[in-house]
Amino acid sequence: MSLSRPSSVVLGAGLMGRLLAWQLARAGHAVTVYEAGGADAQGSPARIAAAMLAPLAESAVTESSVVEMGRYSLQRWPELLAQLSQPVFFQQEGTLILWHRQDAGEAQRFARQLQATQEKLPALPTLQTLDAAGVSQLEPSLGNRFTQGLYLPGEGQLDNRQLLAALLHELQTLQVDLHWNSPRAPQDFQPGTTGQPDWVFDCRGLGAQAQWAQLRGIRGEVARLYAPEVTLNRPTRLIHPRYAVYIAPKQDHVFVIGATEIESNDLSPPSVRSTLELLSAAYAVHSGFAEARILEIATQCRPTLPDNLPAIRRLGARTLQVNGMYRHGFMISPALLDAVLELVREQTTTLATSLDLHMETVPT
Ligand SMILES: Cc1cc2nc3c(=O)[nH]c(=O)nc-3n(C[C@H](O)[C@H](O)[C@H](O)COP(=O)(O)OP(=O)(O)OC[C@H]3O[C@@H](n4cnc5c(N)ncnc54)[C@H](O)[C@@H]3O)c2cc1C
Repeated sequence: MSLSRPSSVVLGAGLMGRLLAWQLARAGHAVTVYEAGGADAQGSPARIAAAMLAPLAESAVTESSVVEMGRYSLQRWPELLAQLSQPVFFQQEGTLILWHRQDAGEAQRFARQLQATQEKLPALPTLQTLDAAGVSQLEPSLGNRFTQGLYLPGEGQLDNRQLLAALLHELQTLQVDLHWNSPRAPQDFQPGTTGQPDWVFDCRGLGAQAQWAQLRGIRGEVARLYAPEVTLNRPTRLIHPRYAVYIAPKQDHVFVIGATEIESNDLSPPSVRSTLELLSAAYAVHSGFAEARILEIATQCRPTLPDNLPAIRRLGARTLQVNGMYRHGFMISPALLDAVLELVREQTTTLATSLDLHMETVPT
């Protein structure tokens, strides 16, 4: 173990690996990264994600601990992005929830779930009910199609690809030792012994399955469209009994339409059924998508633990695994990042305890 500058190895340069390697390097660690794929993150769900930061909207499908991690992270993102030298699109224009008249029953159920979350977590911005005029005011091109909606103020989104590229730039600037096309496993290292790193951080997402057998993939398919006739100012979610889609606008009329949720590690190309459902639902929200150009239809699997909650695991004293971010990686990664950094500094983390973030130690 070095007496001066601590050294760290990070496995995986998806979302968590890049964030952690960056912050460790900023904190003075000599950092080495091993990534199974290339620098463009093609092997990572982080590359195709919609990158919505929507804790209240997600409370319909997750637990309040994740909602709290999301709330914490929404405050942290602007601070983190301000430390990057390249710009990353980030906004907090809220989330719009819409439904067709025939799905009003489903929408009521959804609204009740969100109201229950708000009673539990009153610090979340207050949910607003919209009529047609309210929908028009927020999204002028949708008011003639939808007579009701919900507005979740303060929720955010960022551009995932810009973020991954900006993080790569920081790693290069900070002279992090980057190894692409170089798969590794925690057992390749004996941290804390002579000639070895002080710390190993396993951020391999689904790639960690061999050592963390409970991990599973949840397949997601997304379409990326260029739609010059469509302007939307914020992520819009459509409540629908069969396909609940979202439309996440990026800059310059690029939209991510997603996403399927299929219990599977299958990374084969998108199916016809999923593609038809995603594109039809987008068209049902805004007819301007008819003339959109399909830039990409992509598939990835979300790394997920049995309870669908994230976890930090200790494999021995100096190897930490961070995983299970499921469909919430962008929404919650700053919370996990801060908890891990606190663990490294203090050997304990009060943040993880306060956020009810699951921590466990694997006996060696
Ligand atoms: C369709 C879809 C939409 C999504 N939308 C959102 C959203 O709107 N908001 C949100 O918050 N989250 C969203 N997510 C979830 C988010 O993308 C994930 O939670 C996040 O990417 C997980 O980050 P990670 O760093 O743990 O893993 P990953 O991003 O999977 O990164 C793991 C990395 O490890 C590498 N690796 C694997 N094996 C090895 C090895 N042996 N050695 C070295 N490297 C290895 C992989 O190549 C990969 O680059 C979405 C995901 C999908 C699939």
